[in-house]
Amino acid sequence: MNYTFSQIANIIPHSKKIIHQENNIHSVYIDTRQISNGENALFVAITSAKNDGHKYIHHAYQKGVRHFIVQYLNDDILINDANYLVVDDSIRALQELALYHRKQFNIPVIGITGSNGKTIVKEWLYFLLKDDYNICRSPKSFNSQIGVPLSILNLDPSHTLGIFEAGISLPREMNVLEKIIQPDIAILTHFGSAHSEGFSDDNHKLKEKLKLFQNSKINIIQRYQHSFLQQQSFPLSFICISENPKDKVVAHHSTQNNLSIIDINIEKKKYQIQIPFVNEASIKNAITCFVSIYYLNSNLIDKIIPKFSQLPAVSLRMEIKKGKFQSTIISDYYNSDIDSFEISMSYLKQYSPNKNKILILSDFEEIKDAEKIYKKAVQIINHSDLSHIVFIGNEWKNYLHLIQPHYSYYSTTYEFIDNYFHYSSQIYDSAILLKGARKFEFEKIAHLLEQKTHDTILEINIPALWHNLNYFKNLIGKNIKIMCMLKAAGYGSGSVEMAYALQKFGIDYIAVAYADEGVELKQAGIQLPIMVMLPEKNAFDEIIQNGLEPEIYSFDILHHFIEALDKQGIQQYPIHIKLDTGMHRLGFLSDEIDMLINVVKKHSAVFVKSIFSHFAASENDEHNDYTLHQIKLLQQLSEKIEKNIGYTTIKHICNSAAVKRFPQAHFDMIRLGIGMYGISDNTEEQKQLQNVLSLKTIVAQIKYLKKGDSIGYNRNALLEKDSKIAVIPIGYADGFSRKLGNQQFQVKYKNNLINTIGNVCMDMTMIDITGIEDIQVGSEIIIFDNVQDIKRMAASMNTIPYEVLTSISQRVKRVYVYE
Ligand SMILES: *Cc1c(COP(=O)(O)O)cnc(C)c1O
Repeated sequence: MNYTFSQIANIIPHSKKIIHQENNIHSVYIDTRQISNGENALFVAITSAKNDGHKYIHHAYQKGVRHFIVQYLNDDILINDANYLVVDDSIRALQELALYHRKQFNIPVIGITGSNGKTIVKEWLYFLLKDDYNICRSPKSFNSQIGVPLSILNLDPSHTLGIFEAGISLPREMNVLEKIIQPDIAILTHFGSAHSEGFSDDNHKLKEKLKLFQNSKINIIQRYQHSFLQQQSFPLSFICISENPKDKVVAHHSTQNNLSIIDINIEKKKYQIQIPFVNEASIKNAITCFVSIYYLNSNLIDKIIPKFSQLPAVSLRMEIKKGKFQSTIISDYYNSDIDSFEISMSYLKQYSPNKNKILILSDFEEIKDAEKIYKKAVQIINHSDLSHIVFIGNEWKNYLHLIQPHYSYYSTTYEFIDNYFHYSSQIYDSAILLKGARKFEFEKIAHLLEQKTHDTILEINIPALWHNLNYFKNLIGKNIKIMCMLKAAGYGSGSVEMAYALQKFGIDYIAVAYADEGVELKQAGIQLPIMVMLPEKNAFDEIIQNGLEPEIYSFDILHHFIEALDKQGIQQYPIHIKLDTGMHRLGFLSDEIDMLINVVKKHSAVFVKSIFSHFAASENDEHNDYTLHQIKLLQQLSEKIEKNIGYTTIKHICNSAAVKRFPQAHFDMIRLGIGMYGISDNTEEQKQLQNVLSLKTIVAQIKYLKKGDSIGYNRNALLEKDSKIAVIPIGYADGFSRKLGNQQFQVKYKNNLINTIGNVCMDMTMIDITGIEDIQVGSEIIIFDNVQDIKRMAASMNTIPYEVLTSISQRVKRVYVYE
C-alpha cells in the first residue's frame, strides 16, 4: 500500500487528526514486536480483552514509527513530532481503511470460510496457481476481524489474484468481512460444530457464514454426506459438491497405498486427479480446489491437473522444542513465503529476548517478484538483532552483499549439515529459527539439532491455552487481574515456555512454588511479577536479587525475611500475605491478625502487595456454606489489615473452579491452575474449554505371539488366543503409572481403543493390537489428547487429573504448538 497519512485521515470517517510531518505509509502494524522498519509504517493501537495497544506507542516510536491510529490521547501517548488519528474504534478504522484499499483493485478474489480446512484450501490454491498468477493471500490463518483487514492491506498493483480466509465467532462479523473481501468466488469448506459459542444453533451459524456469499458470482459448498448440509436447500446457482448425482459437482474416489484417485464430474465433463493423501478431509479439500480453479479459469485446468499429485502437506504449526546445547529450536518449514517469514521472525524475537538468535533460512518458494521479496527479507533481517544467519540456496547468493549481521552461506542443505559442527559453540543457549521451503528438507536440520530423547512427547497447544484464558477473562470484570499458577513446572507442561505464552496473552501475575523456579523464569526474560509460594530461608537472597515476591504465611518466615531485607537496607519490598480461612494448610489464622498488623506496621522493609487465601472445596456444592464462610473471612480480615496499615492491597481467593461458581469472590484477582489446561469438574464449563495437553508416543516393536505365551514381568498376562502385541516406549518412569497396566487403561490408535496388557515396565508398556490391521512400527499412539482421556486415566490411577499431569516426568519431550 502507499498512502499519505492525510489520505488515510480522509478515508476513515469521523477521525480527528494531528499531523506534523508525514511520510507515506507502506505497512500497518498492530503489534510493535513485528515492526522492523517504522519509518513508513502506521501503528494501530487496538484495545482488546487481552491487551491495550496504547501501552506500546512509545515502543513503536522507538522503532521509528511516527504515524498512529489511537482511540484516545493523553500525556503518556502524545509525542511531539508524531502524527495521530483519533478514532472511536481502531478496529473499525482498520476495517474502513481495508475496505477503501480493496476497492482500488479490480482483480479476481477468492474468499474462503468454513469451520475447518480454510487454510489448507487457501494454501493449496496458492500452490496450484502460483505459476499463473501473482497471488496475495492471508498470511497463516489471518481470518479475523483484524486479520482480514491486515491481509487485504497487503494487496498491491502487481497482484493478479487474491485469496483470503474469513473466520467468524460471533453473529454479524461476516457482514464486515464480506464487504472487505468482496469475493468473486466464495467457498464454504467443511462445516462443523466447532467454535459455536456465539451462535444459537447450526442453522444460525450456517446462515452467518453464508453471508460471505451475498455478492459473489460463484458460490461453492462442500456438501458431501454432511447430514445437516444435505437437508439444506441452497439456491440453484450454488455449486454443491457431493456424491449425490443431483448436485452440480459429483465426485467419487478410491485409494491405493498412499494415493487417492478422484473422479470429478462437473457440467457433464469428467476429470480425474490424484493426490498424495488418503484422508477424507484432504480429498474434499482437493476437490474444492479443483472446482474453484475450474470456475476461476477453466483454460488452466489441463495444466493444473498434474500438480495435484504434488500437493504439499500443509501444516501451519510452528513448533518450539528443546535443542542440543541448551538451545531452543523454533521450526517453521511448512510454508516459506515472505509473510510467514515476517511472522516467524517476530516469534523468534519475542520468545527469546535474552538469548543469542540464530536464523537458518533457505530460498523462498515464490518465484514472481523475487527481487522485491528478497529485499524485504533483507530489511527484516538487518533490523532484527540476530547473532548469526545461515543462508541456504542459490537465490540468496545474489543478496548477501546487503546483509549486515554475521552470516554464512551454503548452496544446499547437505553442505550445511556437513559443516554443522563448526557451529556448536554458537548454538549454546541460543534460539534458532529454522525457516525453509519444503524442497530444502529442513526437517533434516531439525533432526540434527534436536535433543535426542525418546519418542514420547507431551504436546502443548498454546492457542487452546489462550482460548481457555479468554474464557476466564470473560467471566471476570475488566479490572480484575489474572495470576497463573506455574507450580510443578506448570502442572507438568514446562514453565519457561508456558510463561512466555502467558505473558504474550497478557496475564498479570505468575506464581511458582519454589524460588529457583522463579529465578529460571526471570533469567529467561519473563517480565511479569512472580510470587513464590514456598520461600525457603536459604533462598531469600536469591529471591531479593531477582525481584521475586514471597508469599508470607507465618511469623517465622516474616521475621526472617524482614531480617534479610534489613541487612541490605531494602525498603518497601513487596510481599503477599497468606491467610488461612479454612484450608488449614499454610497461612495466618484469624487470631494472629492483630500481631501480624503490628509487625507489618513496625517494619517499613516490607510492603503488602496482596492479601489472599485459598479455598478448600470450591468445586463442591455440598461445601458451599463453607466456601461462603471463607469468602467472608477474607473480606473481613483483609479489610481490617488494610485499615490498619493504611493502604489497599490486591485481594484474591478464587482458584479455577471458583471463578464461575463464586462471582462475588473475584475480589481484585483470580488464580488459575487446572482451568488453563481446559479441565473442569463442571459439565457446562467443561464444554466451553479446550484441551491443551496431549501425551503421545509411537509403536517401537510389533510381535505376533501364540496362545499361552506370557507378556512382561512376572508373566502377569497369559494370552488366551494368538495375538498381535505392540511395545510402546512409555513406562512408569515417564509418569505412566503401573496402575494402568493389565487392561486397566486403553490407549488410542486412530479411532481404536487399545488395552494395555501385562505389567507396565519402567520405560515400556505392552498393548494388545490384535485385529488392528494398519498399525505399524512408528505408528502414533495417543495416551491422551482430550480431557475425557485425562479424566479416564486419572480414574484408572485412582487419582485426580492434577496428579496425572504433574506425574509426567521431565524426560518426556515437551513440544509447544502454535497454530
Ligand atoms: C495450585 C493453586 C491454585 C490453582 O488451583 P486450580 O485448582 O488448579 O485452579 C490457586 N491458588 C493456590 C494457592 C494454589 O496453590
